[in-house]
Amino acid sequence: MTLPNPSFDIRGKIALVTGASRGIGRAIAEGFAAAGATVILTGRDKATLVAAAQEIAKPGGQTSHVVLDVAKTSDIGRRIAEVAEAHGRIDILVNNAGIEEVRPSLEVDEALWDRIVDTNLKGAFFCSQAAARQMPAGGAILNLCSLTSEVGVPTAVPYGASKSGLLGMTRALAAEWAGRGIRVNGIGPGYFRTALTEVFYQDEAWQRAMLDKIPLRRFGRLEDLLGAAQFLCSDAAAYVTGQVLYVDGGYLASI
Ligand code: NDP
Repeated sequence: MTLPNPSFDIRGKIALVTGASRGIGRAIAEGFAAAGATVILTGRDKATLVAAAQEIAKPGGQTSHVVLDVAKTSDIGRRIAEVAEAHGRIDILVNNAGIEEVRPSLEVDEALWDRIVDTNLKGAFFCSQAAARQMPAGGAILNLCSLTSEVGVPTAVPYGASKSGLLGMTRALAAEWAGRGIRVNGIGPGYFRTALTEVFYQDEAWQRAMLDKIPLRRFGRLEDLLGAAQFLCSDAAAYVTGQVLYVDGGYLASI
């Protein structure tokens, strides 16, 4: 028996990445564009989006940008429908936009809770709903989960609740939309130095303590996420849905 080689090919796919102006979202946008997908970058700030889209397009990538605040659910359906109209469909959605603010739980107010949960969880759900309406069979949704989807981190309760919710959403949507031919998976980055996490990295004692807990003894590099993201959005993962792949240097396996 001769088995076909698995295809990690995403050339020609239309991929929308939320929160793509910097950090992990930008890296995934760049990786997908380099792999031949047409990438629509979204975020709240037009200037940084334009700069990111132009830079990614320089070596030949196909990109465009759309200003979209995922916490403004009333805008999501219209903006995503416009993207689909311009490009004919959406094949891949990466729900990456996310925010975090550490605060002791006794000091968390409703405004902070809503800001974090509305962006990280509610926004991801309504982007998924809007994109699924425009996705042909074979479409893929990728959610940016987190170690806090699995473990409790003090002073990160709204964030942890949103990311645990995203894990639950990943599983439930995978079960519901399998019949439409849409797969829903997640990646869970371990520790990656970005604007979101920079505050922790300012503390060298924190860095040393964290490195001790990571079996591969280094923090993540943005490029470490690209293989997992592309795999889950490609036909090589045609029989994978409802899963989160943790890219964490072995952290979760060892705690
Ligand atoms: P950054 O802060 O570097 O980037 C976040 C991106 O999201 C920016 O492009 C930002 O652009 C955008 N964004 C924020 N709020 C909104 C919004 N309401 N609507 C649209 N876009 C928004 O963070 P990271 O790259 O580190 O994080 C990306 C994702 O990965 C997040 O979901 C995060 O939770 C997750 N993650 C990160 C880890 C890490 O170690 N860095 C670990 C685990 C998970 P703008 O502000 O211009 O809108």
